[in-house]
Amino acid sequence: MSEKIERLKTLILGSGPAGYTAAIYAARADLKPVMYTGMEPGGQLTTTTEVDNFPGYPEGIDGPTMMIQLQQQAERFGTEVRIGMATSVDFSTQKGGIHKVTIDDSKVVEAETVIISTGATAKYLNIPSEQRLRGGGVSACAVCDGFFYKGQEVAIVGGGDTAAEEASYLANICKKVTMLVRRDEMRASKAMQRRVQSLPNIDIRYHTEVDEILGEQVVEGLRMVNNQTGEKEEIPITGFFVAIGHKPNTEIFKGQLEMDETGYLITKGKSTKTSKPGVFASGDVQDKEYRQAVTAAGTGCMAALDAERYLATIETHAEVN
Ligand SMILES: Cc1cc2nc3c(=O)[nH]c(=O)nc-3n(C[C@H](O)[C@H](O)[C@H](O)COP(=O)(O)OP(=O)(O)OC[C@H]3O[C@@H](n4cnc5c(N)ncnc54)[C@H](O)[C@@H]3O)c2cc1C
Repeated sequence: MSEKIERLKTLILGSGPAGYTAAIYAARADLKPVMYTGMEPGGQLTTTTEVDNFPGYPEGIDGPTMMIQLQQQAERFGTEVRIGMATSVDFSTQKGGIHKVTIDDSKVVEAETVIISTGATAKYLNIPSEQRLRGGGVSACAVCDGFFYKGQEVAIVGGGDTAAEEASYLANICKKVTMLVRRDEMRASKAMQRRVQSLPNIDIRYHTEVDEILGEQVVEGLRMVNNQTGEKEEIPITGFFVAIGHKPNTEIFKGQLEMDETGYLITKGKSTKTSKPGVFASGDVQDKEYRQAVTAAGTGCMAALDAERYLATIETHAEVN
């Protein structure tokens, strides 16, 4: 006899701040949420040592501890947290329809509502010194970690809008920002380029790439290389920021949900509703603008409230019929 397929009221995909906040709200609303953690339980914050800007932690907290506490809070209200990864989905197009999600290419789970909080992954250069010094002065988030380098000299790599925005942000805090741009111009909008060029403590180096980040335990310097002349130059820095883009974790939703040209899920108006009824998206997977733990948590709350309200309309409809 075949195994009975499990049917849930609310299935949450992803265990970052968005997923756990959605779980806290959904569990307290008695939606009996089940969460699949994905391959990175706790999400992006487990890769950072210090979170100083999440409200409620006056002394700051390290990322992994914060995520364990969020998990404990979600479990306190009855969230079932399972290790596993959604590998394919079949979302219903009907209001009140049942959504099917396959976990680890084997188990199929059915759900009346699905909250997608699968986040985004910061792109890195993938050179050995960068990997070694992650958490020791290498960061993919200037807004998160720039403060630790107040009054110091830092470098940032990237030429798009995010890089330009983050360079301006760093210029307000740091003594000097060296910006490495691979081509002879930035990809950023003209307005952003003008802003970066107008800041006296940003030194823009065109045609320049990273040769090596220097330092054993912590960042101490940077060796740059001019990709036209091959000339190398070393500068002292204490912080190195990578701003070459993010990749939203949305591969499995292609063809199922509306997304923008870069793969971020599109939500409707101020809500977390996706293009399929009963499927909601929260956190970085639908936000390329703010990408912070607190904004992810905020939209996680919204997704659970949207799911609860959606289920209420389905139940009312069923009673009328
Ligand atoms: C180095 C670094 C430092 C940072 N520091 C700060 C900081 O100090 N303050 C701050 O506010 N923000 C910080 N951020 C940003 C912050 O981490 C993110 O904005 C936040 O984690 C986004 O939360 P999220 O829940 O949307 O997704 P994420 O944290 O990205 O989590 C996504 C989750 O989805 C899961 N997943 C992915 N695919 C699947 C799948 N197919 N099935 C099931 N699960 C899946 C993953 O395993 C993961 O658990 C930092 C980011 C980085 C990279």
